[in-house]
Amino acid sequence: MAISSTYRPATLLVQGGIERTQFGETAEALFLTSGFVYDSAEQAEATFTGAIKHFQYSRFGNPTVTMLEERLALIEGADACRVTATGMAAVNAALLSHLKAGDRVVASRALFGSCHWIVSTLLPRYGIATEFVDGRDLDQWRAALARPANLVLLESPSNPMLEIVDLQAVADLAHAAGAIVVVDNVFATPLLQKPLQLGADVVVYSCTKHIDGQGRVLGGAVLGRQKWIEETLQPFFRNTGPAMSPFNAWLLLKGLETLALRVDAACRSAATIADFLAARPEISRVWYPTRADHPQRELATAQMTSGGTMVIFEVAGGKDAAFRMMNAMRLVRVSNNLGDSKSLATHPATTTHMRIGAEERARLGITDGVIRLSVGLEDVEDLKDDLAAALSALGTRAAAE
Ligand SMILES: *Cc1c(COP(=O)(O)O)cnc(C)c1O
Repeated sequence: MAISSTYRPATLLVQGGIERTQFGETAEALFLTSGFVYDSAEQAEATFTGAIKHFQYSRFGNPTVTMLEERLALIEGADACRVTATGMAAVNAALLSHLKAGDRVVASRALFGSCHWIVSTLLPRYGIATEFVDGRDLDQWRAALARPANLVLLESPSNPMLEIVDLQAVADLAHAAGAIVVVDNVFATPLLQKPLQLGADVVVYSCTKHIDGQGRVLGGAVLGRQKWIEETLQPFFRNTGPAMSPFNAWLLLKGLETLALRVDAACRSAATIADFLAARPEISRVWYPTRADHPQRELATAQMTSGGTMVIFEVAGGKDAAFRMMNAMRLVRVSNNLGDSKSLATHPATTTHMRIGAEERARLGITDGVIRLSVGLEDVEDLKDDLAAALSALGTRAAAE
């Protein structure tokens, strides 16, 4: 028996959605099977007419995958969920299942690189008009949504500059324009921000990030109302095949069990590191949503219960100084990934955000000195020591030159 949705998040993360077999196993069972058999031809027929519920084929559904979907839906407070092979498959399925030629999409400019490509390049190929706005500026949303639209896509906090979008205000404008609102909630995780309670219609995740959080598997999730998931997403999902592997679903169920513990610890360290970096003379600026110097602090603290696990900072001295700092770190490793138990540093201008071009980077404030730090689970004092040593090396070299 699945447990009730009235339990608190920490309980749902561990026990939500579990369906035990006749063997009474403690842990979630891993159904590593592509298909299913029927007791009779009549049972198969009844399954296909929808008269009875029976798993058919793991592209449509699988018991381990279903446990993950139910657990994620419980945590999010959503009616229903479908999980996908990657986060991008989730974003793509949410968009393409809802849209058709002649439709119009409005999106915040500060999107994950591949989401930006879908909106700027892929959708227009299919006759869908798209328009980007500065997600922080409600006047730009108001102007773009003064005309009818079908879908709004946004990310808050954004990658990498942690821009915050006013979810409720944009949802009100979007709904008045006839659009559904899709929120990429990866940076906030399912624990720190609840977009569905703030007016969003659909929430998408890359489970690759905090939900696995241990660098093992790719995954994605789409959450929304029962009717939309069943009537809009499910036919697209079933027939185009972005399904998640049962093995990956099983690992992600295990990842969820510790999500609250990991996210809480990483958030605490991130806030400490943000303050530590802000006090260093080698750093020209720090971005962290709940710090007093974040330009949208009030909105961030109203929408989120914590500032998150990501700290963005600008090293004075541009690309050369940023690279020297990254190369001097020993504990924090250079990677383009995030949301991991291991702390990871990214230089967005030359990696994740290289392809969007210098002009778009300038518009987003991604300068050559900007480093994105995904704070992990190491002891925060060791992380501070590592960053301090790298910054000191920078100072010594700079002074010697
Ligand atoms: C990583 C990420 C994605 C894409 O997820 P994948 O699992 O890599 O496909 C989408 N949006 C955001 C904000 C991300 O960080």
